[in-house]
Amino acid sequence: MSRPTTLRSAGDLIAAGLIDAADAAAIQQVAARYAVAVTPAVAGLMDAADPDDPIARQYLPSPAELTSTAGERNDPIGDAAHSPVKGVVHRYPDRVLLTPVLACPVYCRFCFRRARVGQGESALSEAEIEAALGYVSARPELREVIVTGGDPLMLGAPRIAALLARLSAIPHLEVARFHSRIPVADPDRITEAMAAALRPPPGAALAVWLAVHVNHPRELSAPARAAIARLADAGLPLVSQTVLLKGVNDSVGVLEDLMRALVRNRIRPYYLHHPDLAPGTGHFRPTVAEGRHLMRQLRGRLSGLAQPTYVLDIPGGLGKVPVGPDYWDGDGVTDSRGRRHPYRG
Ligand code: SF4
Repeated sequence: MSRPTTLRSAGDLIAAGLIDAADAAAIQQVAARYAVAVTPAVAGLMDAADPDDPIARQYLPSPAELTSTAGERNDPIGDAAHSPVKGVVHRYPDRVLLTPVLACPVYCRFCFRRARVGQGESALSEAEIEAALGYVSARPELREVIVTGGDPLMLGAPRIAALLARLSAIPHLEVARFHSRIPVADPDRITEAMAAALRPPPGAALAVWLAVHVNHPRELSAPARAAIARLADAGLPLVSQTVLLKGVNDSVGVLEDLMRALVRNRIRPYYLHHPDLAPGTGHFRPTVAEGRHLMRQLRGRLSGLAQPTYVLDIPGGLGKVPVGPDYWDGDGVTDSRGRRHPYRG
């Protein structure tokens, strides 16, 4: 029997019963603009009977993506303006992003790099990797390389091991941090070989971290949990990133369940991102005030271990900053239920 394949077109999605044939023309227009991919693992998590299914909403193209709202832009966090060499984004003094590949197993409908990912550009060539690593080698102030994309685990185990060997040979680097959606979107790719490839080479001083992108507790399926366990058992420290998305996880109950599930699965909640101003994603964006309200409620429900930091990337590439909520204002603190208490610092 042949293995189910990734769905990549309006026709595939209609045939799988995931979108209505009446939407075909609009979905074809969306797909011409932004890549579409739904893995069998993700398709299997969707509830086709639920028009508001939070898994479907993240991955199935929608006619709403054809509408851009004020302030949206193709490069919302200014990657291009901060890219000194192809595949490198240098925004902060001590760290750089390395984007070795712009392909992903799935294409999330809210993606901040949606104008670039899945657009046919393949992985960096050997010469481009060499130039990118040359940039890092020449800057002793750099301590951390954040390997992102696209999804860098698309490179496969041998190329990841080779990349880590080269990063380990750069003496001033202390940390390589991979960001990936594969543990939840295509967990079968997290083989023992992949987990082993992500370990630093024997004797290397480089620490390797992995940030897993998860937005809803249902994404932590049994195969995803097994994939995460393989990574944790290989000794990789795991953190999460979650995007706060209207209709997906903008309720305190869903966020609480997600953060608890992450901690249970040995993933330390790291960031809750306010969605970036990517084109055609206005239907996903709550207000910052709504995000702060949710964070305040989470503070009252979860231990510190399970609290993510709510952050916003300032448009244009000016950096990521926490956006609260604030609890102390000079002469008083506010508790998680909103009650004020005097406290002069
Ligand atoms: S996996 Fe990450 S980079 Fe790829 S489409 Fe989703 S959000 Fe964008």
